[in-house]
Amino acid sequence: MKKKRRYKKKRVVFFAFFILLLGGGFIGMHFFHSMRKNVKEVKESKNEKFYQEEKTNVSLEKAPRNYQEFFDLDDGDYLTDKGYTLTIKDGIAYIDGYIIVNKTYALSNSYVPVNPHEKITGERCNSCINEDVMKAFLLMQSDATSLGLNIYISSGYRSYSYQDRLYHNYVSISGKEKADTYSARPGHSEHQTGTCFDLNTIDDSFANTDEGKWIHQHAYLYGFIIRYPKGKENMTGYQYESWHLRYVGKELATKLYNNGDWLTLEEYYGISSSYE
Ligand SMILES: [Zn+2]
Repeated sequence: MKKKRRYKKKRVVFFAFFILLLGGGFIGMHFFHSMRKNVKEVKESKNEKFYQEEKTNVSLEKAPRNYQEFFDLDDGDYLTDKGYTLTIKDGIAYIDGYIIVNKTYALSNSYVPVNPHEKITGERCNSCINEDVMKAFLLMQSDATSLGLNIYISSGYRSYSYQDRLYHNYVSISGKEKADTYSARPGHSEHQTGTCFDLNTIDDSFANTDEGKWIHQHAYLYGFIIRYPKGKENMTGYQYESWHLRYVGKELATKLYNNGDWLTLEEYYGISSSYE
């Protein structure tokens, strides 16, 4: 009798253990399953977010094809032909934080350079360009000097009203159509931004001087680009200017240098430069 009861007790213990094991297994499976579900849910929400971002980007309105279109646009984000986001803020266009000024994109008559090296008091001032741009120029100038080359800024910041007079003077000399190939209309000059300058003689002879040749090959190392390269008139809207340098920083300048076969900001970002 005693033996039988013990046997029965053993069976009960074994049964209880079995139930416990089963229960544990069940809970474990459930836990594992819910974990997997969580991971799946996170993955799905990530995909959804990615999809939304893609969709937002695609739904952006296209960047303007000319100044007429730019003039009518409100502040906001626009999509360039190369898929970059062009931001218009307070009527001024930027891509990747770089201010964009050409025949399509203009500045208001009150725009002045950000953080100028020297306080702006007049209509034109060579040392009133942006502080970072000036620092980069001085470094480039000092390296050029150590090689026996003489580079200097002949034209830096120019105000809207100064450009207005300059442009209309050229129009009276060459006519409007011709003047538009070498001089910017007021508001459309990069010189108003304080991010560029003209070097030395400001004419075609500069390209063949030792200084001009060195600038062509080395300006990018200091963050400068040849803004209007040879053979790119259709993109920039301007004749080749070996003397006009724009500061964009070393990273972008290196890309645009393109091993000496200079790319334009227009082709790199997929933007237009056209009045009409
Ligand atoms: Zn210039």
